[in-house]
Amino acid sequence: GSKILITPRSYLEIRAEMKELLEGYQVVFNERGRPLSEREMVELVPDVNGILVGVDPVTAAVMEAAPKLKAISKYGAGMDNIDLAAAARRGIKVQNTPGTNRVAVAELTIGLMFDLSRHISHAVAAVKRGRWERVMGVELAGKTLGLIGCGNIGREVARRARGLEMNVLVYDPYFSDDGFASRYQLQVTDLVTLLSQADYVSLHLPLSATTAGIIGRNELAMMKNTACLINTSRGALVKEDDLLWALRTGVIAGAAMDVFWREPAGEHELLQLDNFILTPHMGAHTREAVIKTARAATENLLAMLA
Ligand code: NAD
Repeated sequence: GSKILITPRSYLEIRAEMKELLEGYQVVFNERGRPLSEREMVELVPDVNGILVGVDPVTAAVMEAAPKLKAISKYGAGMDNIDLAAAARRGIKVQNTPGTNRVAVAELTIGLMFDLSRHISHAVAAVKRGRWERVMGVELAGKTLGLIGCGNIGREVARRARGLEMNVLVYDPYFSDDGFASRYQLQVTDLVTLLSQADYVSLHLPLSATTAGIIGRNELAMMKNTACLINTSRGALVKEDDLLWALRTGVIAGAAMDVFWREPAGEHELLQLDNFILTPHMGAHTREAVIKTARAATENLLAMLA
């Protein structure tokens, strides 16, 4: 049978449920409990026919080291860790699992927005240190959420935000309105309008050469000084030093991210700021999404290898 490398850590937690699908295949799992480095990938791929990959790098060098590689199945939506041009040159098929984690990421996004508005994680940490001080928050109802990118995840966030009685602005140059915007009363607008009017700006677009650093000093300066930024997409969409500047100087009120420029984040100046919160890239990590994504990525891989 074909040999397959499976790298996502969450796959290990539900591997029993995928056993039947993988019958007859020779499977190697990443048992390291963290994403693999490029070097480790190169070492593991020499005789594999297929890779089911999480966020680990699948670079031209990795493909070079894998002469039998026919298919790369991305576990998840964002394909910025895969050199798609190199795969195309080598005739290696690539597929992702768009949408399988949209509810999970949308729910975390809403959760981060509540944490920014009511300072939940800070209040809990303070109570656990023996302090009993109420923190004044603001209400989400009546506020404006600006979504940069309105695909699978952005749409789920939009619907939930409407349920919370928020106004929703959308900037997405490729947004094809199939009636979704009018059904949920979303205002499709330009980036400058969105940035200057939103109380919360949330990023739901892929990282690419054109979107890297889409939020920098100028964009942050256009935001209200009471507004907050939420990023559950990719760290590099935001310019690191510019965000640090904006949070330190009160150019914006706060930021919440589930992704970072380097993961794991380790120690970082941003983590010392009270108006910055970070979760460890767990947006898609719900039991439901892990099973849906693992199943879809496995089926995609087997179909590409067949
Ligand atoms: P998607 O492809 O369904 O939607 C992305 C949207 O972004 C599309 O509508 C596209 O038109 C739009 N877009 C592209 N370029 C843009 C630009 N320059 N400005 C504004 N909009 C632009 O993807 P999705 O499933 O909604 O996921 C979005 C991103 O979320 C992924 O690319 C991934 O990086 C990230 N993600 C994070 C987690 C996590 O665990 N935190 C999990 C899944 C996905």
